[in-house]
Amino acid sequence: MSTEQIVGRFAPSPTGPLHFGSLVAAVGSYCLARRNGGTWLLRMEDLDPPRVVPGAADGILFALENLGLHWDGEIVWQSQRTEAYIEAVERLRQKGLVFDCVCTRKEILLSAPHPGEEGPIYPGTCRSGPGAGQRPRALRIEVPQEQVSFCDGVFGPFQQVLSDSVGDFVLRRADGLFAYQLAVVVDDAAVGINQVVRGSDLLTSTPRQIFLCASLDYTIPEYIHLPMVLERDGKKVSKRHGSALLDYKSDAGKLIALALSFLGQIVPNSLLGAPPLELLPWAIENFDSQRIPVALEGIVASHLPL
Ligand code: GLU
Repeated sequence: MSTEQIVGRFAPSPTGPLHFGSLVAAVGSYCLARRNGGTWLLRMEDLDPPRVVPGAADGILFALENLGLHWDGEIVWQSQRTEAYIEAVERLRQKGLVFDCVCTRKEILLSAPHPGEEGPIYPGTCRSGPGAGQRPRALRIEVPQEQVSFCDGVFGPFQQVLSDSVGDFVLRRADGLFAYQLAVVVDDAAVGINQVVRGSDLLTSTPRQIFLCASLDYTIPEYIHLPMVLERDGKKVSKRHGSALLDYKSDAGKLIALALSFLGQIVPNSLLGAPPLELLPWAIENFDSQRIPVALEGIVASHLPL
């Protein structure tokens, strides 16, 4: 095992209250970072103003404080990181990897040979430059026809050929906003994150992020994806449903114990009613990533107060 100090993070999007799925990511990333005396940083992913819900960031901070999940250093707000994203895009442009794209979503849909994992695969129309007089919309990165592989800390080996699965993907959207894929890589690298722990809904985004890391000459972090929390109907738990009942003030210890159990950890009976101050030191000391269930489809949290 490497002796490098772990620098982990939690990166919630303030699009609603902290639901149980995000709580699992917070507890998992916290324990895995703190386990070996590492650092745990917090980043608010308020990158997309139309999706940001007023008051949601404060609600998340209130929840984390009540849960005793204290972060190190200053909170990074993506809305204040535009300069860094511009600079990263400039570096990629100098490497000849980015191009302006004039295609509308409809045009891409019509010309796409087959849909990718997240919508149609971009067919490369504007790779050699948009036609004269056409107004550029999005900025894309050209992906190679090579396989990107990594070994996830829970799900094991994972591969993707970006050109087959997603195609040339967007770095800056037609509305001028930077894409999540770029922002996450630039922000993680800026503070030296070397361990990314998050929900497995982002497993298929990871090859794009590894490709961006490599293209920007960043060190590629370790990735640990946690099983997704599903509602009783099998749908991913969302900020709109099921979160209203979580009472971070009175139930903090109980919620942490539930998150730990969801992650396969065996919380001793004596700690089941304990407050975070007693439970978290045990969790940091005893968290065992081998116990995290390998459930790619997610796990229905039927015993949870959702
Ligand atoms: N902001 C993302 C979310 O709330 C997580 C991004 C990440 O951890 O890379 O789902």
